[in-house]
Amino acid sequence: MIRTACLAVATLLVAGCASSPSGKRALAPIDYSVVCQQLESSGKATGALRWFHVSAERRAAYEQVFRQATDRVAAQARSRPKGSWAVVADLDETLLDNSKAECADQVQGVDVHDPDRWTQWVLSEQAEALPGAAAFVTAVRGLGGKVIVVSNREEGPHRAATLANLAKVGIVVDVLLLAKDRSDFDKNSRFRLIEEVGVAAAKLPALQVLAYVGDNIKDFPYLSQVDIGDPAQFGARYFLLPNPVYGSWQRLPMR
Ligand SMILES: [Mg+2]
Repeated sequence: MIRTACLAVATLLVAGCASSPSGKRALAPIDYSVVCQQLESSGKATGALRWFHVSAERRAAYEQVFRQATDRVAAQARSRPKGSWAVVADLDETLLDNSKAECADQVQGVDVHDPDRWTQWVLSEQAEALPGAAAFVTAVRGLGGKVIVVSNREEGPHRAATLANLAKVGIVVDVLLLAKDRSDFDKNSRFRLIEEVGVAAAKLPALQVLAYVGDNIKDFPYLSQVDIGDPAQFGARYFLLPNPVYGSWQRLPMR
């Protein structure tokens, strides 16, 4: 999954990383406010990233999905006690937009799966909220539901910066369930915890989950690239956002 950390790229833009005299890897600083314009100047912007970063279609699709999810949750919340139910949301490319990190990787010719680069971005706390995300989270909490984010950002290096980034963009969540480490990327155990056991660290009992929201098929319990379960769940309990830039679909063979 993680490929070569630093690719040799013959361009003046470059040097995404280098070794310092101490042998410790040093990452080049990045001005994320201009990095997507730099990518444009380089002529290397892909269609998928352009779509995700600037298109009206993305904005409309996110607003549409979050509005549909809000309506479905609101209809079910009326008959349920406050605090007895939850909504589970993914974080990256669901609530937060990391397309500037993608621009940076492409500008500097760095592998997009490089964990040090990803941490550099997370610690910058510069992800923006995706369209409709903050309003959705606010609406769910206003209806009496818990918003539980299940993300594969990592507990140790990423929790504090992630909470700070969410606060900056006006997103308040009740629980942030992160991956323990890079071997803990299967979310199903965390989904089971929420629905069957309860999240002890947040003093929450088992909760009925009225909606799951995500951009990857694996953001939904037990679904995968080979099994999308009951299609009728989509738009009812599962709400899928579009991500043409990356995902578990990238490992599928063409046919
Ligand atoms: Mg995601």
